[in-house]
Amino acid sequence: MSFNVLVVNCGSSSIKYQVIDMDSKQEIASGLLDRVGIPGTVLTHKPEGKEKTVIEKDLPDHTAGMQLVLETLVHPEYGVVKDLGEIKAVGHRVVHGGEHFAESVLITDEVKKVIRDCFDIAPLHNPPNLMGIEACQSLMPNVPHVAVFDTAFHQTMPPENFMYALPYELYEKYKVRRYGFHGTSHYYVTQRAAALLGKPVEQTKIITLHLGNGASVAAVDGGKVIDTSMGFTPLEGLVMGTRSGDIDPAIVFFIMEKLNMGPAEINNYLNKKAGALGLSGISNDFRDIGDAAAAGDKRAQLTLKVYVNRVKSYIGGYIAKLNGCDAIVFTAGLGENGIPIRQMICDNMDFLGIKMDPEKNKVRGKEIDVATEDSKIRIFVIPTNEELVIATDTYNIAMKQK
Ligand code: AMP
Repeated sequence: MSFNVLVVNCGSSSIKYQVIDMDSKQEIASGLLDRVGIPGTVLTHKPEGKEKTVIEKDLPDHTAGMQLVLETLVHPEYGVVKDLGEIKAVGHRVVHGGEHFAESVLITDEVKKVIRDCFDIAPLHNPPNLMGIEACQSLMPNVPHVAVFDTAFHQTMPPENFMYALPYELYEKYKVRRYGFHGTSHYYVTQRAAALLGKPVEQTKIITLHLGNGASVAAVDGGKVIDTSMGFTPLEGLVMGTRSGDIDPAIVFFIMEKLNMGPAEINNYLNKKAGALGLSGISNDFRDIGDAAAAGDKRAQLTLKVYVNRVKSYIGGYIAKLNGCDAIVFTAGLGENGIPIRQMICDNMDFLGIKMDPEKNKVRGKEIDVATEDSKIRIFVIPTNEELVIATDTYNIAMKQK
């Protein structure tokens, strides 16, 4: 019988899932349960090779939500397994593991305590992640549950890159430091890039650009992250769909005073109303901004330039820190599909050895090298697969329990 892993990603009002058959490494079902705990709950379930099914049913909480997901997975018509015994392990995406986890772990009471201890530094993400774990454990008590952390891959950063120039007590007392996020994605594309380079990952220097609605860059030396753009929270670094990324911290106090905001309001403002949305005044979606820019909208054009400029700064800085670079990788929604943005990022970088072939770059969502033959640095487009990383770690840890 094949070894199926259920991959779960719980947000405050959503549950994303995928079932992966570890023999073939292929997804056999995926889905999204939206509006959990709010009226209008809707499950969109997609069994591989079959039509998607939409189920509307109000559900009070994550346990009821997971119950519906599991019923759907074994449903005689649109299910993908005969019974839940065919799901051998569950992998949970957990955003913050603090300094405790540099790799994925079997979930024990102690691990749950650490996830809870990190509520303070990840108030939006860790509470729903833990809720999802507890809901799944109550419904599937006899299989191993594994936590895969967004922060884990970045734990190899040296202190000179993860420390802020703040009074040291803040680190000692509250663990204020750079953590970095999107770790599973940066890890996956690093491994794929090394394979495309035809070298052991230990002999590579790679810059990975995860450009989605949230966006981050990582500098990876020999398979280990040495620096990344997201920081204490996912607000730092690149310009994102709705997040500002890097700004002068003094602007925070200035806006609080001018717009009469408290800490929660300014936090929400910089996370939800800023970034490409705030600057363009159009949308957080780069397809809309790209269309507006092409139609001559000046603010949309400026937004793209600010976005691209920030990415360029990080590429330049990371090449300096890595003291070299074999490949730059574009991944996530915009990285995989944003042809003009990729071109703008790589334009006028030939001094650094980055030369894109505009013809090869006309591609979406496919693993490919889009650099010219004579480019010193390879430029890869690599579709990310965070679920496969979560499923693989879960499988490996589950096998050790046998
Ligand atoms: P993600 O968070 O990885 O799902 O990425 C979502 C973002 O990718 C969207 O907000 C868009 O800005 C961007 N995106 C997706 N498809 C395209 C496309 N065809 N062209 C430009 N941007 C895209």
